[in-house]
Amino acid sequence: MSPMPAPPIAILGAGPSGLMLGRLLERQQIDYIIFERDVDGSVVNQGGSLDIHKDSGQLALEQAGLIEEFRKHARVDCVTKLADKHGNVAMSLEQQSDRPEIDRKVLRQLLLESIPEHRVQWNSKVAKVAKEDDGLMSVQLSNGTVQSGFKLVVGADGAWSKARSLVTAATPEYSGKCYLTTHIHPGNPQYSALEPLAGHGSYMALAEEKFLFAQYIGDGSYAIGFGLYLPEHWNEEKRLLDDHEALKQWILDTQMAGWPEMHTNFIKHTEPGWRRWPLYALPTEALSWKTLPGVALVGDAAHVTTPFQGEGVNCAMHDSVELAQQIAKYGLENLEQAVSEYEKSMLPRGIDLITRSAESGKFLFAPDAPYGWMKNIAGQHDS
Ligand SMILES: Cc1cc2nc3c(=O)[nH]c(=O)nc-3n(C[C@H](O)[C@H](O)[C@H](O)COP(=O)(O)OP(=O)(O)OC[C@H]3O[C@@H](n4cnc5c(N)ncnc54)[C@H](O)[C@@H]3O)c2cc1C
Repeated sequence: MSPMPAPPIAILGAGPSGLMLGRLLERQQIDYIIFERDVDGSVVNQGGSLDIHKDSGQLALEQAGLIEEFRKHARVDCVTKLADKHGNVAMSLEQQSDRPEIDRKVLRQLLLESIPEHRVQWNSKVAKVAKEDDGLMSVQLSNGTVQSGFKLVVGADGAWSKARSLVTAATPEYSGKCYLTTHIHPGNPQYSALEPLAGHGSYMALAEEKFLFAQYIGDGSYAIGFGLYLPEHWNEEKRLLDDHEALKQWILDTQMAGWPEMHTNFIKHTEPGWRRWPLYALPTEALSWKTLPGVALVGDAAHVTTPFQGEGVNCAMHDSVELAQQIAKYGLENLEQAVSEYEKSMLPRGIDLITRSAESGKFLFAPDAPYGWMKNIAGQHDS
């Protein structure tokens, strides 16, 4: 018996961009497979809540026929408050009612349930992507197995994509900025103090080139985080992440000296489970490649950036919509043209996002935050 022919399209990664692309191909009745390193869909490596924007994330969910399902899970009463070190609220971003929030975990589940189970090959960490002598693409997994015969491999595998090196030698650069995050759950003595500050949205206290934040999650908990400048390999030097008490004390002593109790209490009462998020971005010059037949990148694989615009997931799903549209237009016989047309809008969009995220990062981490940032926003509105 001859082996089953490979589907024409392989997608690397079952994150928001990969699953969105899968869903859209499903609706176009195009055969595909998704390789995902996680063992199953319950694993969510990046926690937190995501606001889904009207003209990108929501547009994608509409195209995917999932907007009604999304609305069932989305939260619309999410205000983001920006305060100074003393708790004076400088800005309340209440106008974001067209940007409902959804937990990352719930979004993944919603997308997963929209495609047949057999489409995702779990526990399949991709090690390498290559073009074979017959012009088709192969995917090598970290366990050594190789699956070949794909017309198109779509890298939707995030910041450290295994497909990216085929189109550019560039790698993400460390921004110098990092988040340290953990949680506070209902029942924690600090919980009742957080509710009036963050509600079902977020609260940030910014000062001295760093910020404290609390973000509501759908299970009723708050993600608590600290954004700060840290050396890229800080944890290897300090080894604090696994020592909850020592890490809390380190933040309080070295980062929050002179901050009022209303804020230091956030950290004092955090629960164990700290994670570190060193924040990377691709240099914008990297987004200038020529279409390589057989390869496309979507989402963070194409344009990973710092999260200071809160648009990464929106842009990722938007990419998938545009790639799926071009595939529908040009068909499986002309995938090179489809990818080339897709890249004409994706590359400038990626450059724009990386640039704006870097700008926002400067204001968030400025010595005069949050007031300098507000002045800048006011200036933009005046001009
Ligand atoms: C701390 C932090 C906070 C953020 N906050 C926000 C926010 O509030 N709003 C927002 O819009 N964006 C935010 N972002 C950005 C957002 O998370 C990303 O832009 C978005 O997740 C990109 O989606 P993606 O599908 O392209 O990649 P990812 O979400 O990274 O998904 C990639 C998938 O590929 C899998 N994978 C990776 N490598 C391999 C491999 N070798 N083989 C097989 N599978 C692999 C991963 O397991 C994952 O499932 C944040 C990012 C960070 C780091």
